[in-house]
Amino acid sequence: MPKGWSFILDLPRRQDFEATTEKSWDATLPDGLTFEGQHFSLPQGLSVNACARWVEDSLLSVKISLASHIVGECARCLSRSELAISDDLMYLYFSRGLDFEDTELGSDDGFMPVEVDFLGRTLSIAEQVWESLIVLLPARLLCREDCAGLCPNCGFDLNKVTCSCASVARDQRLNVLSEFLIPEGGKE
Ligand SMILES: [Zn+2]
Ligand SMILES: [Zn+2]
Repeated sequence: MPKGWSFILDLPRRQDFEATTEKSWDATLPDGLTFEGQHFSLPQGLSVNACARWVEDSLLSVKISLASHIVGECARCLSRSELAISDDLMYLYFSRGLDFEDTELGSDDGFMPVEVDFLGRTLSIAEQVWESLIVLLPARLLCREDCAGLCPNCGFDLNKVTCSCASVARDQRLNVLSEFLIPEGGKE
């Protein structure tokens, strides 16, 4: 988590199961972030919205919504690539000691449970905002779905040029294939 990463949400009054509290933040990540060997920058920062509601006495649901625009290198051709990310993630905070599996939402897979020491009037959701951002990052950022990448042999960008190594390799594969597919003398 970056230094100074802070998200504190006021909670609704206890026992009031209708009330919700909501807050929005515009976070910045001047250094970007590195995940699974990929570096991303977030030039427009990160928009965060959180909405909390009591489900039971010691059980609080929080919807965390994130939106951002990430910039990084295409995993195949290394060119500058961009991706808009946004999603809502549902968390359930519960006090230590509550038998979470026994609760109404305990078995719902859509919620991610978070055990906390104490649920008071405010709640820090910084760790879950960070976790949500990490979850939304692409496993491999691509400039486009069908990016042809770099030739592993000569390093040329195959989106822009066709190098001769590719065609030599392909011809060799085709020759091998044709020996399999067409028996001596052909079919007819
Ligand atoms: Zn690419
Ligand atoms: Zn090549």
